[in-house]
Amino acid sequence: MKIGVLALQGDFREHRISLEKLGADVTEVRLPGHLEGLQGLIIPGGESTAIGKLLVAFDLIEPLRAFGQTRAIWGTCAGAILLAKEVGRDQPLIGLMDMEVQRNAFGRQIDSFEMDIPVPFLKPAEQPYRLTFIRGPIITRVWGRAEEVLRLPDGRMIAARQGKLFATSFHPELTDDLRFHEYFLELAKSESTG
Ligand code: GLN
Repeated sequence: MKIGVLALQGDFREHRISLEKLGADVTEVRLPGHLEGLQGLIIPGGESTAIGKLLVAFDLIEPLRAFGQTRAIWGTCAGAILLAKEVGRDQPLIGLMDMEVQRNAFGRQIDSFEMDIPVPFLKPAEQPYRLTFIRGPIITRVWGRAEEVLRLPDGRMIAARQGKLFATSFHPELTDDLRFHEYFLELAKSESTG
């Protein structure tokens, strides 16, 4: 399995390590040509405005839009923001998912926290997953082809999927639990299109 990790800014190394633990062949993507031959791509957490500017500078916006038409992309935190069509402010976006997010939505005092919740679509599902939030967005709305896949117990939406496109407000790459990365590799292997 050849999987790319967008390596312009943010915690791409942690994603790389998680993917390698699962046996994936990982490429760090910094230029359009690096997307060749990949079955999926992860866009890491970091700062979505900084990553967006670098995407423009390295002419990656259009190649990523084309990539996401047929192949899997998973955005974590800042990566999820970049996949959204609406963020309520002007910043460069890949904009592939029918989804609106609100940045830094958890407020200052609790902008970083962890929470154990069961995630029904992971295997095994009974074992709760420790979700790590670091100034993350919430998903305020999905429409069209995007669907909600996970909410916090208080009802805030924190993960969505649109075919092979996947967005999470939190950071599975910062835990030792590889089930989200396993889930993404399955998505990247699947036949469905984004
Ligand atoms: N607050 C960041 C943003 O708005 C996201 C934070 C993160 O990726 N951990 O882009």
